[in-house]
Amino acid sequence: MGQVENERLLEQTGAVKEMIQTCIQCGTCTASCPNNEFMDITPRRMWRLLLTDHVEALFSSKSFIMCSSCYYCTLRCPRGLELTQAMSLLKQAASRLKLKQFKRSSLFYDAFLDSVQKHGRVKEMEFMTHYFISLKNPVIPFGYASLGLKLLAKGKIRPEFGSGAKGKLAGLFKKVAELEA
Ligand code: SF4
Ligand code: SF4
Repeated sequence: MGQVENERLLEQTGAVKEMIQTCIQCGTCTASCPNNEFMDITPRRMWRLLLTDHVEALFSSKSFIMCSSCYYCTLRCPRGLELTQAMSLLKQAASRLKLKQFKRSSLFYDAFLDSVQKHGRVKEMEFMTHYFISLKNPVIPFGYASLGLKLLAKGKIRPEFGSGAKGKLAGLFKKVAELEA
């Protein structure tokens, strides 16, 4: 990663660094995280990397993508830091920076939110179809075919593309986009 890329990363993570300035590296966030075992670096180490401007190392890890926003770390941090929000901001930064290693995650989120915006809930078939088309790789869907069929057989996903609360959330999404601009 070059100098320019590193500066872009620092710029995009400045707000998150501010949020976690008072971290004392106690490790409570790591101990509280139910997804810790799936992360290649721990939440405590992530905050350390950010505070010491090692953003390249932070973004070469996919730990923050594994955050499921359960809020345990936020509730238990002795410094009262908004850690779930910090994880979310890192996901947004990775998406904005269009980093190659996060491309699939970003496309997944886009397809998910598009479905929620259109229908007020996720229409699984439409969402996954949208996601697979955006990947532009006809081989990938075959890897999910067996799982998809099992979920369909158990009624966990419904083969529908129709509308639910069509367009009703458009105003809400527009407002959030304005606030985030
Ligand atoms: S729980 Fe809070 S203070 Fe402790 S390491 Fe995590 S972010 Fe830092
Ligand atoms: S909010 Fe994310 S990082 Fe925090 S404990 Fe839950 S899954 Fe882990």
